[in-house]
Amino acid sequence: MTLEQLDKQYGLQTYNRDYTNFVKGEGSTLFTENGDEYIDFASGIAVNSVGHNNPILVKALQEQVAKIIHISNLQVIEPQAKLAEQICTLADYDGAIFFANSGAEANEGAIKIARKYGETKFDKKRYKVITLEHSFHGRTITTVKATGQEHFHTPNFSPYPAGFSYVNGLEAIYKEIDDETVAVLIELVQGEGGVQPFQKEAIQKLEKHLKEQDILLIVDEVQTGIYRTGKMLASNMYEISPDIITLAKGLGGGVPIGAVMTKHKDVLSAGDHGSTFGGNYLSTRAGLAVLEVLSDMDKSGKLTETLAYFTVKLKEMATKYSNLFTEEVGLGLMRGLRAKDNETMKSVLASCMKNRLIVLPAGRNTVRFLPALTITADEIDEGFKRFEKAISSL
Ligand SMILES: *Cc1c(COP(=O)(O)O)cnc(C)c1O
Repeated sequence: MTLEQLDKQYGLQTYNRDYTNFVKGEGSTLFTENGDEYIDFASGIAVNSVGHNNPILVKALQEQVAKIIHISNLQVIEPQAKLAEQICTLADYDGAIFFANSGAEANEGAIKIARKYGETKFDKKRYKVITLEHSFHGRTITTVKATGQEHFHTPNFSPYPAGFSYVNGLEAIYKEIDDETVAVLIELVQGEGGVQPFQKEAIQKLEKHLKEQDILLIVDEVQTGIYRTGKMLASNMYEISPDIITLAKGLGGGVPIGAVMTKHKDVLSAGDHGSTFGGNYLSTRAGLAVLEVLSDMDKSGKLTETLAYFTVKLKEMATKYSNLFTEEVGLGLMRGLRAKDNETMKSVLASCMKNRLIVLPAGRNTVRFLPALTITADEIDEGFKRFEKAISSL
């Protein structure tokens, strides 16, 4: 059987897959089984934050794998404790962390913290969580309900948990709040929704308002976190200090990991939450290596340089091809070109793949760029050369 046949027979068909078979990666270049080279502007949807085959990550993992991969959370786990400390330090956040295995799970943890806070802290129970239209928070029954996109809430998976509502835009949150609202859950740059950043002043105003009402601000940094927007957290860039922050994608450099951090350290107690795999030696050692690479790049100014160079190139494309794109959007290395329409986006994506460049869709009509933060100037040049070739014929 071919690989495609194998996948189609034995894999549950929940994705519309492309069947290019990649067998090796180096930095931001991927190689197929036939030796074809692709430039990777997607990094596995913001996951391979330090690129493929990163020597520091690889060495850390090889050493760790030869010692211990996993014990349980009933024992202390050295890299887990160190990673929690590193995240809080680099994010300048006075909090504590629970480790999970994915973004959805991190958000589940955040919702559990909020629910218990709402149950135990007030005379009248608070449990409602407000989210935003075009948001994305995960695929579990609860996080899919928290996701503000109606088409995800198909009756196929109903009934969904109660207590979630979503509104259109930050200003609409104020009207939605009632005396049962416990938390507001938002992204600072909506990734899946179309790489749409919110305004700093509007976010700071919301933070202040929620604080006054003792309503928790939960920021989903699953995609924006770990230097994706240019700072350790997008919350650092927006100069806010949320009650709860969730992380996942870029944190493990490809090893599955999720994290929920909160300044309300005493809400959860022993037995309230748990995970078999969460925070094991493998994933937290990966997290430490990723943070070592990225915090060095941040301190040396290299990250700012890469970001600036990518921005110049992207803006060039937006200006030159205004026949295809209406707008250039995003922050840091989480960027998008808003295509005229859904058809245009689809043909851009297909043409990029033909020209051996991997980019991503977002929302209905955004071509999304999420390169590794370690991408080199040469890889950026080559990627945009291919991008221009791909779109100039459209
Ligand atoms: C990807 C993503 C998630 C879901 O993460 P999984 O690891 O796929 O569960 C949640 N929130 C945001 C903002 C994301 O980008």
